[in-house]
Amino acid sequence: MLPISHFELSMHNTFGLTSYARLGAVAYSRADVIDAVRHARGNELALHVLGEGSNVVLSERIEAFVLLMRIGGCEITDRTRVADFVTVGAGVSWHGLVEWTLTQNMPGLENLAGIPGSVGAGPVQNIGAYGVELAEFFESLVALDTATLEFCEFDGPACRFDYRDSIFKREPGRFIIVEVTLRLPREWQPRVGYSGLEGLEQGTPDQIKDAVVSLRERKLPDWRQIGNAGSFFHNPVVAQTHALRLQNHFPTIPVHPTPDGRVKLSAGWLIEQCGLKGMRRGGAGISADHGLVLINHGGARQQDVALLAEYVRKCVNEKFSVDLVQEPRAL
Ligand SMILES: Cc1cc2nc3c(=O)[nH]c(=O)nc-3n(C[C@H](O)[C@H](O)[C@H](O)COP(=O)(O)OP(=O)(O)OC[C@H]3O[C@@H](n4cnc5c(N)ncnc54)[C@H](O)[C@@H]3O)c2cc1C
Repeated sequence: MLPISHFELSMHNTFGLTSYARLGAVAYSRADVIDAVRHARGNELALHVLGEGSNVVLSERIEAFVLLMRIGGCEITDRTRVADFVTVGAGVSWHGLVEWTLTQNMPGLENLAGIPGSVGAGPVQNIGAYGVELAEFFESLVALDTATLEFCEFDGPACRFDYRDSIFKREPGRFIIVEVTLRLPREWQPRVGYSGLEGLEQGTPDQIKDAVVSLRERKLPDWRQIGNAGSFFHNPVVAQTHALRLQNHFPTIPVHPTPDGRVKLSAGWLIEQCGLKGMRRGGAGISADHGLVLINHGGARQQDVALLAEYVRKCVNEKFSVDLVQEPRAL
């Protein structure tokens, strides 16, 4: 593998930010991944992996080695009476995988249809949507431990999955995921409790997938037309006492109790109540339709996005005493 200097990433992030890495390369195999780590070390650079760049905010000049993950492959590795097992290369498109499993008559992932990005990035933030998370279908993965240069296998508990979180997010840069195995149970139940999916109790997996994709298209701006990274902040989880205080002041505030006795709030609702929808800072702005989505009106830089995000956090904190945590990683 030959690394490229001044490696352009502008076409490799859904925010559409202009960005170059000092060095970069594309990985099509495990050998390429090891090579990249060696090159990065040889040049005394940190190494960052990118899948499809849908959960990052890139700076104009990244003083690091950026590796684009493109390891392919997808096969059914086992079939038991209770589940089918599918092993997939980290560079495969997540949505492509969802569609493929449905054509193979292996339902389960339909609620996660339409999430941009690569399979390898899925476990990093335990992707989730419409009441379902990747962790439910996760069997194992293989990752290169950059500390030892050895490939190691992780089962579910080793990944320490949580809400949009995992060990890979908590230790960024340590592990490079090259392959993921999912377990799709033979017994299938439609998951249609989420608002927008009512009425599909008798629906087929394909019908639910189509409904999810069209709901997403209606709710979120298409990043191919208006650069964005999806939800920019996590939904905050607060203590019950704090939620009660907020309910006294703001009776219409949406609250969702969590299994651990706390309360999840809607980051989008908090932002909208601050009157921030549609506001602009430089080339960056907040979607006029969805307060949780920061967008690139054209020519935005990482700095514009960072200043706008900081302003949103300040307004929400002043009004609700709630700290918003940014979801996409700044590189
Ligand atoms: C319009 C839109 C809608 C979205 N909707 C959702 C949603 O509903 N639910 C949801 O959970 N997310 C959503 N996202 C966020 C995003 O799609 C997911 O986080 C996705 O998994 C990111 O994949 P990626 O390949 O683009 O990762 P990147 O953006 O390329 O990388 C994200 C992070 O993962 C790390 N990473 C990537 N690949 C690897 C690897 N192989 N090994 C180790 N680390 C790796 C990167 O270093 C980075 O820290 C949305 C994004 C957009 C733009």
